[in-house]
Amino acid sequence: MKVAYWYNNKDIRIEEVPTPNPGPTEMLVKVISCGICGSDIVEWYRLPRAPLVQGHEIGAQVVAIGHSVNKYKLGDRVFIAPKVPCGKCFYCENGHYPQCSDVKERLPGGFAQYILVPEILVERGTYLLPEKISYDQSTFIEPLACVVRAQRLANVKNEQTVMIIGCGMSGLLHIKLAKTKGCKVIAADINKVKLEFALRFGADVIIDSANDVPQRLIVENGKKADVVILCASADSAVDQAWACVDKGGVIALFAVPEPDKKVIVPVNDFWMKEITIITSYYCGPPDITEAMKLIESGKIIVDDLITHQFALEDIAYGFQLVSDGRESIKVIIKPNESIA
Ligand SMILES: [Zn+2]
Ligand SMILES: [Zn+2]
Repeated sequence: MKVAYWYNNKDIRIEEVPTPNPGPTEMLVKVISCGICGSDIVEWYRLPRAPLVQGHEIGAQVVAIGHSVNKYKLGDRVFIAPKVPCGKCFYCENGHYPQCSDVKERLPGGFAQYILVPEILVERGTYLLPEKISYDQSTFIEPLACVVRAQRLANVKNEQTVMIIGCGMSGLLHIKLAKTKGCKVIAADINKVKLEFALRFGADVIIDSANDVPQRLIVENGKKADVVILCASADSAVDQAWACVDKGGVIALFAVPEPDKKVIVPVNDFWMKEITIITSYYCGPPDITEAMKLIESGKIIVDDLITHQFALEDIAYGFQLVSDGRESIKVIIKPNESIA
């Protein structure tokens, strides 16, 4: 089978490796669709494990099953989480699934024709796709689950003003989700194309980040935002987040600057204004279940976010498009198709 080894964003190599055979407790799935995630192109985050096969946003079909697997059958359409928390440790019991201290195995990457699913993920990380969720839509389950988690932790609710800074794929999902909750959504970005997308996908107000953003926000909204969700990693975006939150409000760090960047937090000001900063990293099983419901019910439409589809051979171009970020939203790789 073919797999795509990622060395860095400019060096992705397609290699031929033996197609694995599932052991008694494993299964083999054929990858039909796999999304390129914004986090896949973050080199400081991925390089320590390179070369690696990336791809954690999958829609797949079960094609071979170990003899003691009875939960799934040939032909089943599935989403599989990239890793599964134990559900029993201190962190899991407190809802901090991404901090589980007992994650043993990761799902091999989806930028490959097939994935060998380890026992633990067959047991607890595999989700049957309902009829209404297509393979392409399945690639949104994980990113939407992360968005669901962040908005839950930030306590986003009806009638709040929610400001989204950064309107890439995640920012746009945040806009869509906040709209389903009855929020007024203000979107900011430096990229005009992304602002157009933000408007098309539900933002009530868009602000070009080249302007004085906090001032524009007050002109447009009458006051600052109740919740600010940072979906960009530039220093200027962080400063805007600090400056756009209202008294008593919440800033959710969904994206962060690189690890060696120092960020200055105006703690004294935040203390007096009772501002909360929360972080949200990845997602947990309840978030995945909720994301699936949102997609299945059509409450969150994801099809309109798909801008490109490529065969595995063209994955390097896909990464280039996502890194560039100007004309693409969701780029999906179809490892078993040849797309011209
Ligand atoms: Zn992702
Ligand atoms: Zn745990």
